[in-house]
Amino acid sequence: PEAVSQALHDVFGFPGFRGVQDRVVERVLHGQSTLAVMPTGAGKSLTYQLPAVLLPGTCVVVSPLIALMHDQLRSATANGIRAATLTSADENRGETMDRFRAGELDLLYVAPERASQPHFRELLSRARIALFAIDEAHCVSEWGHDFRPDYRLLRPLLDAFPHVPRLALTATADHHTRTDILAQLGIAEDGLIVAGFDRPNIRYAIRPRESAMHQIKAVLDENPGPGIVYAPTRARVEQLAEKLASATGRRVLPYHAGLSPDVRARNQAAFVASEDMVMVATVAFGMGIDKPDVRFVAHAGIPKSIEAYYQETGRAGRDGDPSVAVMFWGADDFARARQRLSEVEEHRQQSERQRLESLAGLVETAECRRAVLLRHFGEEPPARCGNCDNCLEPADVIDATTIAQKLLSAVYRTGQSYGLGHLEKVLAGVSDDRVLQRGHDQLSVFGILRDEEKPLLKAVSRALQARGSLVPTDHGGLALGGDARTILKGEASMMIVRPPKKERRRRGNADGG
Ligand code: ADP
Ligand code: ZN
Repeated sequence: PEAVSQALHDVFGFPGFRGVQDRVVERVLHGQSTLAVMPTGAGKSLTYQLPAVLLPGTCVVVSPLIALMHDQLRSATANGIRAATLTSADENRGETMDRFRAGELDLLYVAPERASQPHFRELLSRARIALFAIDEAHCVSEWGHDFRPDYRLLRPLLDAFPHVPRLALTATADHHTRTDILAQLGIAEDGLIVAGFDRPNIRYAIRPRESAMHQIKAVLDENPGPGIVYAPTRARVEQLAEKLASATGRRVLPYHAGLSPDVRARNQAAFVASEDMVMVATVAFGMGIDKPDVRFVAHAGIPKSIEAYYQETGRAGRDGDPSVAVMFWGADDFARARQRLSEVEEHRQQSERQRLESLAGLVETAECRRAVLLRHFGEEPPARCGNCDNCLEPADVIDATTIAQKLLSAVYRTGQSYGLGHLEKVLAGVSDDRVLQRGHDQLSVFGILRDEEKPLLKAVSRALQARGSLVPTDHGGLALGGDARTILKGEASMMIVRPPKKERRRRGNADGG
């Protein structure tokens, strides 16, 4: 224990461990294989770097991204740890292999594809290995959000060195993925250590999108500190960055994979150094960035999953000071995500669909957001946190089953090919040219929507799309999907959160961004 706290202090300059770090390090030092699930920023690197320094032999670290490896290498080397990377991008591979064989390395970072190369196994057998650390271990699971087939090649390599302990690390693992990682990497179930996921200083809010630009401008106006705005595409990033800069007068820069590496590096450096800058970015931005004082993260559309949401919002408030995370979502986000589902390989569709359902659940809930989030990560949080939109302004939940039935019937009777604007006219009994031409004034659903139901139609449509009961057609219309028939038959009910007042006034607008 003495040597441990001394190394912690002397090598890393930390006064003590944080969270579950000590439990993880203790297991590793005892040679026990472990899966550590720790949120981003919790300090995963230390849990293998410290044992790497203390144990005889080299810790072999498997990491999926060369850029991340080089970041890790820099900070390890800065702490005086003897570290190297072995990737196709490194020109000094010969030298690195010599140092490794000679026992002169504490840490050796490699990409997973190297694991399948026979000469790599050969190389390992000629050195002393203290530990296998598998970073981003969710990549081994098809249930994870970032499955990488190369990770499946690790198991035979690990099994070739049965006496070397394994430390798998991930920030993002729901219960299912966790169990799978343990099985895939051959780690016993009692080797699981899960850190608390709560980020109490982050205030969560999730709102329907009316105009991303205006809503995000308001976020910028209320939060003068540094912040990140996530947008779904490069074009949206450019557009939002420009508009927000001119609307707020703040320094706003774009970041996406389409920019040259120079510009990206420059913008990122400017952001990290700044105390008031806004970065509008695709999800390409944020990995491995160490900026503790990010005061807000805004999403202009839905993230890929709850895991991605947690990770992206988790870039706010690493310093522990109050921060906000606001997401603006639209029915079209879910529609697009569902469309993309059909392009996913068949065997992954079920897990991807479930991921989307969970996200829809978080977006739609009238419960405490934090409670839903933490339950997703296997925790049992208090029912209310007092620091999210639903706790601060309790949402009004209403039974919208009848409206849903009316809308679904109108979709069905009009042949499942019209958009919400037309359907609303039919339901409201508006006989304009198009309605008359198609004979939709003759349908049983014509004019059945009551006045007080009209302001809720858009929210009902949005909720039905989020849960997949309504799906978009190729031509901008809506068709029945998912459990639509159960709702129609009255076998399922449909609760929704009462939409914001503004939307109730401006009812019937197309759901745009
Ligand atoms: P993760 O990989 O889990 O996202 P990192 O390993 O990058 O997290 O660590 C996040 C930050 O926390 C780094 O700046 C690191 O220096 C710091 N850190 C890690 N452990 C400790 C500790 N015990 N005390 C103080 N700071 C720590
Ligand atoms: Zn709450």
